[in-house]
Amino acid sequence: MAQDVQKQKPLTILKEVFGYSDFRGEQEAIIEQLLSSHDAMVLMPTGGGKSLCFQIPSILRPGTGIVVSPLIALMQDQVAALRIQGVSVAFLNSSLSYAEVQKIEAQLLRGELDMLYVAPERLCQERMLSLLHQIDIALFAIDEAHCVSQWGHDFRPEYIQLSLLHEQFPQVPRIALTATADESTRNEIISRLDLVNARLFISSFDRPNIRYRVTQKNNARRQLLSFINTEHAGDAGIVYCLSRKKVNETAHWLNEQGIEALPYHAGLSAQVREKHQEQFIRQDGIVIVATVAFGMGIDKPDVRYVAHLDLPKSIESYYQETGRAGRDGLAADAWMVYGLQDVIMLRQMLSSSEANEQIKQLEQRKLEAMLGFCEVISCRRASLLGYFGEQQDEDCGNCDNCLEPVESWEGTTEAQKALSCVFRTGQRFGVSYLIDVLRGKLTPRIEQFRHNEVSTFGIGQELSELQWRSVFRQLMARGLIAVDMDGFGSLRLTEDSRPVLRGEVSIYFRKDVVRKKRPDKKAARRKRSGQYDDNVANSANPELWDALRKKRTELAQEQGVPAYIIFHDATLMEMMEYHPKTLHEFAQINGVGASKLEKYADDFLEVLNAC
Ligand code: ADP
Ligand code: ZN
Repeated sequence: MAQDVQKQKPLTILKEVFGYSDFRGEQEAIIEQLLSSHDAMVLMPTGGGKSLCFQIPSILRPGTGIVVSPLIALMQDQVAALRIQGVSVAFLNSSLSYAEVQKIEAQLLRGELDMLYVAPERLCQERMLSLLHQIDIALFAIDEAHCVSQWGHDFRPEYIQLSLLHEQFPQVPRIALTATADESTRNEIISRLDLVNARLFISSFDRPNIRYRVTQKNNARRQLLSFINTEHAGDAGIVYCLSRKKVNETAHWLNEQGIEALPYHAGLSAQVREKHQEQFIRQDGIVIVATVAFGMGIDKPDVRYVAHLDLPKSIESYYQETGRAGRDGLAADAWMVYGLQDVIMLRQMLSSSEANEQIKQLEQRKLEAMLGFCEVISCRRASLLGYFGEQQDEDCGNCDNCLEPVESWEGTTEAQKALSCVFRTGQRFGVSYLIDVLRGKLTPRIEQFRHNEVSTFGIGQELSELQWRSVFRQLMARGLIAVDMDGFGSLRLTEDSRPVLRGEVSIYFRKDVVRKKRPDKKAARRKRSGQYDDNVANSANPELWDALRKKRTELAQEQGVPAYIIFHDATLMEMMEYHPKTLHEFAQINGVGASKLEKYADDFLEVLNAC
């Protein structure tokens, strides 16, 4: 393709090759930056459309675009998708045989490739560098650039060496891309990759199609099952748990309930993990139950929900994990259950952590913010974006708090009762015990410690046990009560408890929702994502929807690629909506470029005309 497109415009390539009609956000400006031989640093959320930013200039500029990407699986899928779109592209990584490598190197030397994907460790080898010196290079794209950050969780030592690109090829424009939002990582990328002169492109980190929900935990598994069955039957989803044991148990249990679920955690062998990941990516509607070990580089666009059965340790993790839902821009859910026990456990984990004081304090602050997010009464999206320094002017209309406004209640007296009960019983007891004392329950233990004689015995009859648990949870979440490191969950007061006890501050609590009818899902989804609703589409003509999906699976299996590489759900939905009857009409569908038109139009038109 390289020769005949040089005079074409980015928009033409977007339409012809990728089948999309408009650029999103800053894509066009980023592409222009590279076309004029300048560097770019791109911060865009997952699903924002980073890939096109280097793919289009690679096609348009003379020479080959060299793309550094840390994960083999990701590379293979991107390359497969591009080939189907008619782009001349290859990858070099450790999965190839020597003969295959030689073939690709020859293509590279003949200038036949628009793009070459390379693993970072290979790029820095002498052999590769000397090859690169013999060819025209369109640009260097450094994907997942946050891997250069030593403090991040995805650190790749090989990334550090990538600074040599600039030293050896000063005239080649570079683009670094990441979905990691925080400023310190950004600065580290800029300095380590020597991108001081790069123009910075920062997109909003909002993911409007994701609906954020946090529900009080009462029976996590049952709640999960009902969430899947009522809202996501047959959809692909990720369920995160803290421990390997819980991952195994939950996956097993879901299977027993008739939901096809696979476990994934670091305790499984590499083969099993790979197999499960493959299945998740390639088959329709698999649920993966995983620890945080799962996710980096998962490029599956049609994950419809991410569920958390345990609380993530920070908002960064939460944002990253939930961000794996809905990359295709269609409605998706970030759903979490959270309860008193989570707070106790995480607080304990922190206080018994071996880390040095400075790191501990940092972790503490991150957890504080996470808890704050769980308890917030106002728009969750505003709270999330606010954490990343972004301001949202209006409520989002697509989070639980916006959809069902949370009531709050003035609970200064109750807070004082709870705190003084902690104090009167000697700061040695856990929540259940304290609630028994408050509610005046004469248990043998209470008698043994003679806590039926303290002044707080029986002063809390006005609230049920459940309500008191909610009070304690919220006091803990706000740091008004601390959890001891003794391992028994004993509670004690903190510096911040004093003003409350002295009546210097008023305390408002969130009123936990017990069970209300579900909000009008469809209306809000449409409003938010500006897309047609998936349910509307497939309930209008379920036979057609199934037939299109079946055709897609068939073609995907024939060609050995994931189904979404043939067409995304969004593209199938447009087919449902516009029902194209001719090649010309089919070409108008978003996601249908020239190459896919030629390859697949007939197959899909046949299905469309039959239904
Ligand atoms: P990221 O790498 O930022 O997570 P991708 O590059 O994978 O995101 O893009 C996410 C999805 O959005 C892909 O399915 C891609 O095809 C689609 N996409 C990107 N740009 C556009 C656009 N201008 N119009 C329509 N869809 C787009
Ligand atoms: Zn909201």
